[in-house]
Amino acid sequence: MMTPEEYEESLRKLDLVVYMFGKRLENVVDNPILRPSMKAVAKTYELANLPEYEDIMTTRSHITGKKINRFTHIHQNIEDLVKKSKMGRLLGRATGCCFQRCVGMDTLNALSIVTYDIDKKHGTEYSKRFLKYLEYVQENDFTCDGAMTDPKGDRSLPPHKQPDPDQYVHVVEEKENGIVVRGAKAHQTGAVNSHEIIVMPTIAMREEDKDYAVSFALPSDAEGIIYIIGRQSCDTRKLEGDTIDTGNLLYGGHEALVVFDDVFVPWERVFMYKEYDFASSLVEKFASYHRQSYACKVGVGDVLIGASQTAAEYNGVEKASHIKDKIVEMNHLNETLYCGCIACASEGHKEPSGTYSVNTLLANVHKQNVTRFPYELSRLAQDIAGGLMVTMPNNQDFKSPETGKWLEKYYKTKPGVPTENRMRILRLIENLTLGTAAVGYLTESMHGAGSPQAQRIMISRTVNLEEKKRAAKKLCGIEE
Ligand SMILES: Cc1cc2nc3c(=O)[nH]c(=O)nc-3n(C[C@H](O)[C@H](O)[C@H](O)COP(=O)(O)OP(=O)(O)OC[C@H]3O[C@@H](n4cnc5c(N)ncnc54)[C@H](O)[C@@H]3O)c2cc1C
Ligand code: SF4
Repeated sequence: MMTPEEYEESLRKLDLVVYMFGKRLENVVDNPILRPSMKAVAKTYELANLPEYEDIMTTRSHITGKKINRFTHIHQNIEDLVKKSKMGRLLGRATGCCFQRCVGMDTLNALSIVTYDIDKKHGTEYSKRFLKYLEYVQENDFTCDGAMTDPKGDRSLPPHKQPDPDQYVHVVEEKENGIVVRGAKAHQTGAVNSHEIIVMPTIAMREEDKDYAVSFALPSDAEGIIYIIGRQSCDTRKLEGDTIDTGNLLYGGHEALVVFDDVFVPWERVFMYKEYDFASSLVEKFASYHRQSYACKVGVGDVLIGASQTAAEYNGVEKASHIKDKIVEMNHLNETLYCGCIACASEGHKEPSGTYSVNTLLANVHKQNVTRFPYELSRLAQDIAGGLMVTMPNNQDFKSPETGKWLEKYYKTKPGVPTENRMRILRLIENLTLGTAAVGYLTESMHGAGSPQAQRIMISRTVNLEEKKRAAKKLCGIEE
């Protein structure tokens, strides 16, 4: 397993083509906007090397028996699934943001199931290829980017009917030693902090779309891959130097548009090739795992609740009954989310490949709650924080001899509470509910692993209505 320092060094060796603010970045690792996101991923390496977190953060490879980081593991039992949820909460609480490494873990697990299922039906050899690749990932303790979401163009049209055929990633050429792919993947979490990028289809497909039914892995610096970094609200505060205005001084996340400009993929890295009948299964397996992964939001919720309680105490309102009740409500919502990710793990099952899958219905119910509760938690946090959270002057004004004394005098609440501490906690709440971390805590909660409607479709498909009708009819004496 890598140490956080080795992880950082390994990223320096990558030759990524990354653009931000219209310019190519020569040094991604030390860029002030991106570095906090690298530090958040590095936390997954740091905790795995600490004895107190060994049980949650590490396990044994089912292929080699060696100790590995859980982020590269294929779940072998229910306990593995439950520990995955606990790991998500732990890291969410430790970083207060998206630590990015789950998408790759969820992709590996989904592929372990679907490559096996394709082989059973079509007599292919994807599973063998995949397990060899997995061993390579585990041996090197790599971070993988899970790339599912295509730009999708006109959403009412399937891939093959798009006016621009590149709106979904597809095969443009077949060669003796591999394939050439073209297209893009949008919103890619942690893309430039990853060693590998694993591509999957994003929707169910029919035969006409078979060139789009493709899954493969590439080194993140493979020739022809281009990264264009997405903006986050308040991102340029990170360029202001040593300032507490960023809210979270240590960690952050990032997303990118990843373009595949005719990229060659050798056969040994191809895990689905035109088996369109398995595209929906891969999407559903990945989505269910990733919906479980939103245990991270519970950890970030822990931070928001802690910040809200602290703000209340600094303001002298922590004993007011409505404030206490709002804190109870925040905890109720947050722990309800925790129940969902533990429940879908505890009710998991073994797939024919041997991999353990989460309960699909419960994973979708959990994610549906995730699309709502962090917004309500944020509303309550902003209520408790007060308006200063959004009207507070710049850190420089606090430092300035002309203005600092006024800010110090008028933003003071009570003896024993340094004004600076009050400012820090309010900036953290701003960061989580309006700033860079709100990308992960709010909008990603809404759309990540599929927009709310995607979960409602899965709930309607997986819930057993007939059983419920039978139960009701039996109790009131209906015999049909
Ligand atoms: C911060 C963040 C991080 C992310 N990280 C990753 C990642 O690491 N990897 C990855 O693969 N993806 C990632 N995603 C992508 C995420 O899965 C998508 O945002 C999600 O699937 C929604 O797709 P979209 O953003 O294109 O929205 P759209 O598809 O445009 O959806 C917008 C609205 O239109 C509706 N809609 C869309 N299509 C249809 C249709 N055909 N019929 C009816 N209604 C429709 C939706 O239900 C929704 O209400 C991330 C997203 C975010 C915001
Ligand atoms: S949003 Fe959560 S589940 Fe998704 S990659 Fe980030 S930390 Fe992991």
